[in-house]
Amino acid sequence: MADVLKKVPVREQDAKVRATNFEEVCYGYNEAEAVEEANRCIECKNARCVTGCPVAIDIPKFIHHIKENKFDEAFQTIAKSSALPAVCGRVCPQESQCEGVCVRGLKGEPVSIGKLERFVADWAIEKGIKPEPAKVKNGRKVAVIGSGPAGLTCAGDLAKLGYDVTIFEALHKPGGVLLYGIPEFRLPKDDIVAVEINNVKSLGVKIETNVIIGKSVTIDELIEEEGFEAVFIGSGAGLPMFMNIPGENANGVFSANEYLTRNNLMKAFRDDYKTPIMKCRKVAVIGGGNVAMDAARTALRLGAESHIVYRRSEAELPARIEEIHHAKNEGVILDVLTNPVEILTDENDWVRGMRCVRMELGEPDASGRRRPVVIEGSEFEMEVDAVIMSLGTSPNPLISSTTKGLEVNKWQCIVANEESGKTSKAGVYAGGDAVTGAATVILAMEAGRAGADGIHKYLTEK
Ligand code: FAD
Ligand code: SF4
Repeated sequence: MADVLKKVPVREQDAKVRATNFEEVCYGYNEAEAVEEANRCIECKNARCVTGCPVAIDIPKFIHHIKENKFDEAFQTIAKSSALPAVCGRVCPQESQCEGVCVRGLKGEPVSIGKLERFVADWAIEKGIKPEPAKVKNGRKVAVIGSGPAGLTCAGDLAKLGYDVTIFEALHKPGGVLLYGIPEFRLPKDDIVAVEINNVKSLGVKIETNVIIGKSVTIDELIEEEGFEAVFIGSGAGLPMFMNIPGENANGVFSANEYLTRNNLMKAFRDDYKTPIMKCRKVAVIGGGNVAMDAARTALRLGAESHIVYRRSEAELPARIEEIHHAKNEGVILDVLTNPVEILTDENDWVRGMRCVRMELGEPDASGRRRPVVIEGSEFEMEVDAVIMSLGTSPNPLISSTTKGLEVNKWQCIVANEESGKTSKAGVYAGGDAVTGAATVILAMEAGRAGADGIHKYLTEK
């Protein structure tokens, strides 16, 4: 008999095989595995897992439906709170949210809520089941800027309330980071992201791509000339940060955003696309977050020896444990307590290496983590032919600089009320990474939902 203290294990592609392809790493649960895992849930009355979920999915209820093989009901329960369950089931940091507080975790492993959500969402995709659209439309126009999780959630919620919603997206395809940032091997684009975006469209949401708000048209023009009564800004935080060290402009230095976008959106990994990326021999990815892991695992799959270069120790890596574990199993090499101080170039200005220093951990800094301190005389050269900077991102100032009266803080993040998304400009709401700086899919969705509530109240009282 299975050990109820442990999660039903999830099947995965073999580490050696997957390191050479872009197919999804995790296979998810089949029906029998999902029902077995669901039976581990004791359906608590005051379910802590629900309070741990930023969009408050009724977790015990959907798990109860799984136990009874009522997968359609399970999907409709989740769909009440989340427009992107197949995405969230794959990329949410459940260990620090719903699963982090599950009572099963007090003695043993928590219920595998994320994998159960993924199972239900994938089942609904396979069966072609869609969320229910609004029965009555009110015809009032709302514009949403950006088609990432914040924009999609806000648009979906408003459409369910009967609004006439148009999303304006700068790129040629919708999805935001779900499409251009998170790699195919963690989040399949055609089979998962595109299907969940189509579900949002099936609610009546229109998506206009190749429209850059602030260039093609401004927010003031949308309101004053195009009849939009309210606007939600979900434009993300797509502006990469750099180290400002010598040599950073050399050929072969990428931001993680550029490297991943070329691969995910422009399909550089596929021979049938004419948008290739530089073939690298040995790559250093600078940084230790989830984005760094994605870039390192992508470089590995493109044939490079792939290194994560991080200035603190492995214990401080900010990436999810699952991501670090996957990266190491696949062959990514961790060079911790190491920091580059110069990018070295050849006579044609191509990267040939990095001058690095060794670090040790000192006293805790403002973040509570021990501060990395340079070890005197520890300089050494590391030979690489490409460097990928993964040091974080901030919002692009294009929208704030072209919108009168829109307040931003010193990091260019839009100032907005957390509960309603209301900004300093009447009728304009905002949420997601554009407000918080780089965060997570589910927090962007929570903000999209708050923005939809805020806009609905504003327009109802107008
Ligand atoms: P985005 O997803 O950035 O979407 C913003 C959209 O707005 C984009 O499509 C952009 O093109 C568009 N836009 C920008 N400016 C304009 C304009 N002027 N006019 C029109 N459109 C505009 N989070 C997790 O929870 N789990 C993970 O595993 C995870 N992995 C990640 C991996 C990578 C590589 C990256 C980069 C991020 C990852 N994140 C992860 C973070 C998560 O993806 C983001 O927090 C989330 O996507 C933010 O959603 P958003 O809707 O606010 O913005
Ligand atoms: Fe089930 Fe855990 Fe939620 Fe309790 S806390 S209802 S056991 S998933």
